Amino acid sequence: VVEVLRLGHRWGRDKRISTHVALTSRALGADKILFVSNDDHVKDSVNRIVEQWGGDFKFDVVDSWKQYIWSFKKNNGIVIHLTMYGENINEIMKKIIEKRQEGKDSKNILIIIGAEKVPKEAYELADYNVSVGNQPHSEVAAIAILLDRLFEGSSLYKEYPDAKIKVNPSDRYKSVEIR
Ligand code: SAM
Repeated sequence: VVEVLRLGHRWGRDKRISTHVALTSRALGADKILFVSNDDHVKDSVNRIVEQWGGDFKFDVVDSWKQYIWSFKKNNGIVIHLTMYGENINEIMKKIIEKRQEGKDSKNILIIIGAEKVPKEAYELADYNVSVGNQPHSEVAAIAILLDRLFEGSSLYKEYPDAKIKVNPSDRYKSVEIR
């Protein structure tokens, strides 16, 4: 299971980018997104996409993110914090994938992604502080690249049997199947 924990979401102000973080997480292979406070706009957008495009991606809210990380780690999960100050993904990703394959109990991954300034506890609690290059950019880009590297491209072929809409890839036309 791969989960994404969105820290620092500001109600109203961040709704569009947080929705993009959630939808990108889903499309690139994560199973769940967790927020520290509810935002109906984000929740509804996620649920609408899941309803039409299928799958089981979940939106959830946690009471205490620190507590959540603690128990995730206690259950042998791997915690990755995405930050421009971290170790370059090009160097660290192979190690993370190997670690994930190591033991049967350490398959779950929690990815922390920030909005505004991320508290220092996130850096301390994470098993890996990972940068997608050491330049500031966007949480959407960072999560997309991390998930793509984690699944080694395979999530781009994901299809959902319960989808009501399906795209037929074409080099010429827009072709959509409605079921
Ligand atoms: N200024 C904020 C800070 O110091 O934490 C960062 C704000 S940035 C717009 C929002 C989030 O995008 C960050 O918390 C991080 O998760 C992600 N991010 C931005 N650039 C990144 C990079 N180069 N590598 C990894 N993650 C990045």
